[in-house]
Amino acid sequence: MIQFDLITLFPKMFKSLDYGIVGRAQKAGLLQLQYWNPRDYTHDKHGRVDDTSYGGGPGMVMQVQPLRDAINAALHRHSRESGNPDDKPKTIYLSPQGKLLTQKTIENLASEKKLILVMGRYEGIDERVIEQDIDEEWSIGNYVLSGGELAGMILIDAITRLLPEALGDPESAHQESFSHSNNLLDYPHYTRPEEIDGQKVPEALLSGNHKAIEKWRLQQSLGKTWLKRPELLKDRSLNAQEIILLHEFIQKMRNQP
Ligand code: SAM
Repeated sequence: MIQFDLITLFPKMFKSLDYGIVGRAQKAGLLQLQYWNPRDYTHDKHGRVDDTSYGGGPGMVMQVQPLRDAINAALHRHSRESGNPDDKPKTIYLSPQGKLLTQKTIENLASEKKLILVMGRYEGIDERVIEQDIDEEWSIGNYVLSGGELAGMILIDAITRLLPEALGDPESAHQESFSHSNNLLDYPHYTRPEEIDGQKVPEALLSGNHKAIEKWRLQQSLGKTWLKRPELLKDRSLNAQEIILLHEFIQKMRNQP
């Protein structure tokens, strides 16, 4: 079971996590989401949680006090529940300035029991929150979103798929693109019918020979990675069998009309 405390101005956005694998994981008690809205903690009589940026410039900045109080409320809940004041979940700020999230990061974070996620809005959050209250900053890509909620949902979704019992067949997470530092893309998948509009399922997959299927899939993973994301192969050494399989794949490609 993993618990997420979500510091967000827009808790209703997380409704989309009620569907599919993540929705089932919530119902099965594998995943628990708790919301802390900084607006509930502001001392401003108009409910404001943001203000203009010192030094000028466009856009508003999320203020320290409502955010810090919301984070502290989440932290207190954990220490109260566990009876241990030192029980402090990692506090993560979803930010375009964070390190880029990878499957490896997701695998590491999936071993945590509790995480606090801080979702920014406007021009972002006051730097002093980052300095004092945030343990790690993670980005979902080199582009800027209008808020951290979508990034937070991506993180939760990717972590949930790795929880034991969340997937119908736990093997599927093991075999996916990037899994376990494999750094290879997933092999192609086919389903019924065997032939459609003249397009056939590759022979190897119909053979029933498990060794041949495994070999075909590894070759396809290597080949697809070489074709679509060659930079991934630079970070991974290939063993003798993989070199032969990739070489064969490249030869077949070159011999195609
Ligand atoms: N002024 C900030 C900057 O340029 O670094 C961007 C602020 S953005 C408009 C508002 C919020 O969206 C951020 O505080 C952050 O929580 C979230 N956000 C935007 N892009 C993101 C990304 N690539 N990954 C994760 N969170 C992101």
